Order: sequence, then C-alpha cells, then structure tokens
Amino acid sequence: MKKCEYCDAKMDDNDYYCPSCGKTSSSEKQEIRRNTFFHRLFSFILPFLGLILYLLHRNSNTKLAKIAIRSAIVGVLFYILIFVLFIVYLILSIIVGIFS
Ligand SMILES: [Zn+2]
Repeated sequence: MKKCEYCDAKMDDNDYYCPSCGKTSSSEKQEIRRNTFFHRLFSFILPFLGLILYLLHRNSNTKLAKIAIRSAIVGVLFYILIFVLFIVYLILSIIVGIFS
C-alpha cells in the first residue's frame, strides 16, 4: 500500500492515479510518460507484442492497454499499406515489362 502525496488517500501499489483525487505523483508521471512512449513504440513496430501488452494490461492498466492495442492496430495498418504499395509496385513493373 502507498499513499497519495496530495490527499493522503490509500492507493493500491499498482495504481497510477489516486482513486480519491485522481492525481498522479510527480515521479509516477515520468514513469507513465516513459511507459506510454515505449508501449506506443514497441506496439507500432511489433503489433504482435502490442497485442500481448494489451492482454497483460487489460485488467490492471486500461490506459496503457488502450495505447498498446491502438498502436498495434496503427502498426498493422502501416505494414498492410507497405505491403499493398509493394504489390502495386510489382504489378506496375510487370505491366511496364510487358509493354516495353
Ligand atoms: Zn489523492
């Protein structure tokens, strides 16, 4: 158990936000920012990891879970876009090859 540094309410060790006043301690704010950044980055680069992070945080930290799954979806869409562009490029190069 830890205590909120603003209102002294009891907080669960896993809580980032005070259940009483909703504030976050300053050291935790930094940690949240760092966590948010890495969750966004890794979920985007490796959408599968984003899905795992989502499942891990789903019950304990819904905010991070949402960030992870959202970045994973954006990552998947990004890879699909790259793949489609690659296919279009292949088709175009075949067409150009036929008519030249
Ligand atoms: Zn508080």
